[in-house]
Amino acid sequence: MLDIRHLHKKFGNYHALDDINVSAGSDEFVCLLGPSGCGKTTLLRIVAGLESYSDGEILFDGRDLNAIDVRNRNFGIVFQSYSLFPGMTVGENIGYGLKIRNVPRAEIEKQVRALLDIIRFPDLIGRYPHELSGGQQQRVAIARALAVSPSLLLLDEPLSALDARVRLDIRGEIRDLQRRLAIPTIMVTHDQEEALSMADKVVCMNHGRIEQVGTPHELYFRPRTKFVASFIGTSNFLDVTQAGAVFGERLSAVPQEGRTPDALLVVRPEELVLTADPAGEATVADVTFLGNVSHVRLGLNGRTITSELRLGQRLAPGERVSLSLHDGCGRWVAP
Ligand code: ATP
Repeated sequence: MLDIRHLHKKFGNYHALDDINVSAGSDEFVCLLGPSGCGKTTLLRIVAGLESYSDGEILFDGRDLNAIDVRNRNFGIVFQSYSLFPGMTVGENIGYGLKIRNVPRAEIEKQVRALLDIIRFPDLIGRYPHELSGGQQQRVAIARALAVSPSLLLLDEPLSALDARVRLDIRGEIRDLQRRLAIPTIMVTHDQEEALSMADKVVCMNHGRIEQVGTPHELYFRPRTKFVASFIGTSNFLDVTQAGAVFGERLSAVPQEGRTPDALLVVRPEELVLTADPAGEATVADVTFLGNVSHVRLGLNGRTITSELRLGQRLAPGERVSLSLHDGCGRWVAP
């Protein structure tokens, strides 16, 4: 449906996007994930037609996007700041796109009511944006974007201004709606949990380049670069010598793909098994209780390793432990 090929964007001499290749299928939810300044918003703005590009091509349904006038693209866009029209009621905001398309009034009213039911705010139709909470405004902004039955939905950090609880709720609602309406969607986020929980496909970006594209599962369990492994989730990195010293023979159980003399072993906290052992190689530095899990920082030959306690396990600072890896866990990445 959307096919971005070898896209480049320069601001003066600054290469903001460097050879970007991304596609989004007809009902796919794609997240552009990366740290601040990596170019995700620029990429979204280019697709939206709000920014030009320097080289490459973007195809939409097989057609060059440049050949489709921005007004005729019928893309729904939701920004971080809800950007509702302050002088219009909720109903007028949601119906705005239909009104400028000359849809008859009765039809607009019907569709607005249907959308308000979907976002579960049937009673808000006459309210003004300043009379709504942030979460309500963002739901209205999403309904407004959906009102025109967009052929592509573009979401630019739509949840980042909301508090954690509301963010979690709207996350699920957006995903439900997107699945139900089967609209290809591209969402920008710097929040890895948001990307992992919502996306069919995550595009992990860094310094204007794509580091890896894959399912959330692939990016988490098979990161191809050190950047991806450190940006998504928590990772411990051990070089070949350190890994050999800690895991010895058991290292052969780690998948061998990517193992080169200078490769780093990536181990997630939950992949380590800690066993209290006075002769163990690591020392507990501290334990942090996080509710569903307790994180343990361990001192190991002058470096710090992060792990987790098993259910019911107790360890105290200063205790010595031995480390082993769950079978099949760990993977090698380039340094
Ligand atoms: P954030 O999460 O902070 O919004 P981002 O990944 O969305 O970051 P972009 O906004 O796409 O990043 O910016 C990418 C880079 O391009 C940044 O270094 C930014 O300073 C630069 N940039 C963006 N817009 C312009 C512009 N109009 N002129 C010059 N440089 C720009």
